[in-house]
Amino acid sequence: MAKEVEHRQVIIVGAGPGGSSAAKRLAENGIDCLVLERREIIGNPAQCGECIPNWGEVVSTFDGLENEEWLKDLFDFPDHLRLHRLDKMRVFLPSGKHYSFDLDAFGCHRLQFDGHLADLAQAAGAEIRMSQALKNIVSKKDGSSLLVTDKGRYSADYIIDATGSLAHVMRLKNKDSKRYRPREQVPTIYAQVQGPIPDTFDVFMGSVAPNGYGWIIPKGKVANVGLGVRAGSLKGDLKPHLQRMCDELGFEILSWGGGWIPMSGPVDCMVDDNVLAIGDAAGLVMPSNGGGISQAMVSGKFAADAIIANHDTGRPLSEYEDRVRSCFSRSLKNSLRAKKLAYLFFRWDWLTEVLMRILGPFGGIRRAMNCERTLWLF
Ligand SMILES: Cc1cc2nc3c(=O)[nH]c(=O)nc-3n(C[C@H](O)[C@H](O)[C@H](O)COP(=O)(O)OP(=O)(O)OC[C@H]3O[C@@H](n4cnc5c(N)ncnc54)[C@H](O)[C@@H]3O)c2cc1C
Repeated sequence: MAKEVEHRQVIIVGAGPGGSSAAKRLAENGIDCLVLERREIIGNPAQCGECIPNWGEVVSTFDGLENEEWLKDLFDFPDHLRLHRLDKMRVFLPSGKHYSFDLDAFGCHRLQFDGHLADLAQAAGAEIRMSQALKNIVSKKDGSSLLVTDKGRYSADYIIDATGSLAHVMRLKNKDSKRYRPREQVPTIYAQVQGPIPDTFDVFMGSVAPNGYGWIIPKGKVANVGLGVRAGSLKGDLKPHLQRMCDELGFEILSWGGGWIPMSGPVDCMVDDNVLAIGDAAGLVMPSNGGGISQAMVSGKFAADAIIANHDTGRPLSEYEDRVRSCFSRSLKNSLRAKKLAYLFFRWDWLTEVLMRILGPFGGIRRAMNCERTLWLF
């Protein structure tokens, strides 16, 4: 006998920053909302450098967020999450010379950060079920989708794909189409370390991370040190490469982590029938620096708003995608351009050094990192 199907108004798959932000917004507006999360513990294991931008940084990077009071409150994180103020970034050239500029962010533990957002969603009335991995989606004759996890079967009026870079909902729903999922995934590896930890967010360019960069993000007594390189750019495994980098910097490795970052910019389609993709699943990561937490939270709120508007007044869900593009497109396009420039030119240390010495004094490196036009013209 077929298992019973549980029907909910909204099902969100994934309890990362995007999923929990959407759940909080929906529940506060009286919408019944269930979050299905495959992990046993929210935020664990962390797959992140753990640098969180403050609201000021988010507003200055993306468009049209100045009057978003609800988001401003969401970004008012409690002090216990803020392990290390990150108010400077230093970008190191292959020679060791560096350029530095201001940043408005902090280092944290994603375990605590994601847990905090999930607590807010639950306090607002959303339900979160752990250890529920989405395994399959069955398209029914009436056009609706049946979500199959390892524990049950679900249907919903609206579904949010908040599953991160691999976009599991859209991938299972649109098996043959690449239009609904991020194209390029960049492999990253990092280590949590102790030792001579700097006070700043440090970035290293050149052969340490060909077609990518190495980074140190301090978070209190420890730091995350990582590498993100274009797939195939580095001969051999990333792990010994990072081990060498940590040895050279005098760090003792405490644990390892890693993951995939979708670096090809927004997906072609973020809305499909009653499914909306948010955060990494929608490809909203900044291709030039890999940051995606704020975009996941903002797009989660936008998706919830679109669902509320569709439910209350019948407005089309496609308004979600329009809003996302008008907020993020300019910066993500600039960021993608900066990444492509890096792929093109940052192949040899000498060329990286020369170009960065040209760009550095005119603020080009800061602009590339901040998703502005690297060279004014392109
Ligand atoms: C190594 C690394 C370093 C990074 N460093 C930074 C950084 O310092 N700052 C920054 O802003 N961004 C960083 N990012 C990017 C950032 O982690 C993401 O942009 C952000 O987490 C996206 O949030 P999300 O809610 O869209 O997805 P996620 O945080 O990926 O959450 C997705 C959730 O869905 C769950 N899930 C997935 N599949 C299923 C399924 N089939 N069924 C049920 N649940 C499922 C997952 O378990 C997870 O909890 C980094 C990424 C990586 C990989």
